[in-house]
Amino acid sequence: MRVTVYYLPVFKFDLHIHSCLSPCGDLDASPSAIVRAAKRAGLDGIMIADHNSSRNSPALAEACRREAFRCLFGMEVTTAEEVHCLAVFDTLGQAAAMTETCYNALPKRVNPPDVFGYQAVVDADENVQELEWRLLGAPTRLTIRETGECVHRMGGVFIAAHIDRPVFSVTSQLGGLSGGEGFDAVELSRHADIAVWRDKTMGLPCLRFSDAHQLDGIGSAWTEADLSVFSTAALKAAFAGRRLSTSCRVPAFSPSSSARTGHPQSGQK
Ligand SMILES: [Zn+2]
Ligand SMILES: [Zn+2]
Repeated sequence: MRVTVYYLPVFKFDLHIHSCLSPCGDLDASPSAIVRAAKRAGLDGIMIADHNSSRNSPALAEACRREAFRCLFGMEVTTAEEVHCLAVFDTLGQAAAMTETCYNALPKRVNPPDVFGYQAVVDADENVQELEWRLLGAPTRLTIRETGECVHRMGGVFIAAHIDRPVFSVTSQLGGLSGGEGFDAVELSRHADIAVWRDKTMGLPCLRFSDAHQLDGIGSAWTEADLSVFSTAALKAAFAGRRLSTSCRVPAFSPSSSARTGHPQSGQK
């Protein structure tokens, strides 16, 4: 008897990487440098998730075109509750519309770069085109529910960011998930034990991303799924079918810290 084994294609992606547009992001983290670092790290697709803005996404799109790499477009929205949420879209137009919504909901305060850091809008050749004047690190006036409704109306995916973190998470700000926020999935940081948190996610799929603020953080955590295309529709299908596993790099204190052993934490079925 001949046994045929089929392997599903595994797509490794990270939807939470900060660029030089985030005040807390490294100035070296241009979209082009991020794409090169993601390829080196063995990822298949990424999204830049700057605070309340997607203005470096056009450079990301061009960098990906040059490198034959895949990406989605979006941002990390800070809601009125000071909860960080990922908004994920397929097109630059959708991400730009969400950015406009965030800008209209931000306080009209000017970012002092010497206090919070520079917010550089760059092109794919790493030329600084503009320094964003708005205080991107501030919370918007949008509640979690309003943000989720907006993201869904625009056709996007809405993810609760780093729910295990002691700051800027649904756990730190509200004590946890109620189930009525409208999230499609939750993100855990690379430090979280997924077995501990799975019971606190209201049945939502658990993802893991790097939340990298420097280039060397890219590849420290990722999610895998059998995606044939990198799109919000494919993500939603993977969420519905629980066809996901999450991985992270060995912590720095380990003797084999440079190894990417993967530690698959599947079994989310
Ligand atoms: Zn965050
Ligand atoms: Zn972040």
